Amino acid sequence: MARISRPGRARGPDPESEGDFPDRDPSWVGRVRERLVNWYGEAHRRLPWREDRDPYRILVSEMMLVQTTVTAVIPYFSRFLGRFPTVGALAAADEADVLKAWEGLGYYRRARQLQAAARVIVAEHAGVFPDDPEAIRALPGVGRYIAGAVLSFAFDRPAPIVEANTQRVLSRWLAWGEDLKATRSQARLWEAAGRLVPEVGAGSFNQAFMELGALICIPRAPLCLTCPVAGECLSRRLGVQDRIPVVRPRPAPKEVAESCAVVARGGRVLVVQRGPGRLWERFWEFPTIHRSGPDPAGRSLGEPVDLAEGVRRLAGISAWVGPVARTFRFGVTTHRVTMEVHRATWLGGEPAPGPGLVDLAWEPIEALGDYTLGASTRRIVTWLGSEASEPPGPDDEAGLDPPFPPI
Ligand code: SF4
Repeated sequence: MARISRPGRARGPDPESEGDFPDRDPSWVGRVRERLVNWYGEAHRRLPWREDRDPYRILVSEMMLVQTTVTAVIPYFSRFLGRFPTVGALAAADEADVLKAWEGLGYYRRARQLQAAARVIVAEHAGVFPDDPEAIRALPGVGRYIAGAVLSFAFDRPAPIVEANTQRVLSRWLAWGEDLKATRSQARLWEAAGRLVPEVGAGSFNQAFMELGALICIPRAPLCLTCPVAGECLSRRLGVQDRIPVVRPRPAPKEVAESCAVVARGGRVLVVQRGPGRLWERFWEFPTIHRSGPDPAGRSLGEPVDLAEGVRRLAGISAWVGPVARTFRFGVTTHRVTMEVHRATWLGGEPAPGPGLVDLAWEPIEALGDYTLGASTRRIVTWLGSEASEPPGPDDEAGLDPPFPPI
């Protein structure tokens, strides 16, 4: 019988106690494996990256699935594999093409890491995906979880997996009542996952494990009545499944204020390309200044400047800058950015890239679809493309101003 810990936190076994957790019982481990894999055989979703055991496809899918839902990833995955069907094709591709294929998924560092991993496989493994755990862990962007996914799904190696779904399931199975993100919690969950993954059939087990978290043991109101392992779940037995996992609330996002200018000249607008070593490296955007709060994108010019002066410093031109035409809000890492968009008109000067920028271009709005744009810039471009006809969206606070003044 599990000992109940002191009141005040989700009740479960005492983490200090070795004997109270079910994963230490080999017969429990055996039952969970069997029930889970049997259920998976009947209930799993058909997903494009499950069609075969190609480690490259598995790596692409797992890199895409970090912080993104399965539904969102499916079209990207198919397009990306159509564009870069092999490790060699991805390694040889232009980085801008890779970012373009990734555009909209966010976390662009992942796209760069994926391409870097492909280049390592070509350079160091003759283009053949390694099956050695150390070689896989050494690939850029591959941590313990993704290595476990590739090793078990592609090569059926008994590598454990702890990610968003499985850590929730595990914490409920064990009725783990401590903060899920704590180092001790993570160590304990990896330990349990290591006990659970079988020597043979590791890939099926891990996929079943993740699928249970995605379909049944969901974050809020887990579907215990249809759960294939309900009889083995300590949280369910103790009636605490709605209070586990314990997750410390995230700190409130930090507010950031920025302004950008859509500078028009003869039917074209000015876009600038960001330089290396910065968030959204090599992405295109409208000239943008940081106004207040933290500066996650490194846009500060060292001193407060108005937007016309910012445009002069960033692009070397003078421009008439109108009032705020529209305000967009979006999240960047732990920040919440308020972006004020101004219409502007070129007055003089030939453009040259300023601090932190490597290129610039005058383009018609409709041509910007071919550029690599972050999600926020794409929203602005979409608005500009449809401007006068649409009312402001729910996140957008200002309405539309009259069209650009004639040049
Ligand atoms: Fe999750 Fe409920 Fe199943 Fe336990 S019984 S694993 S809480 S769905």
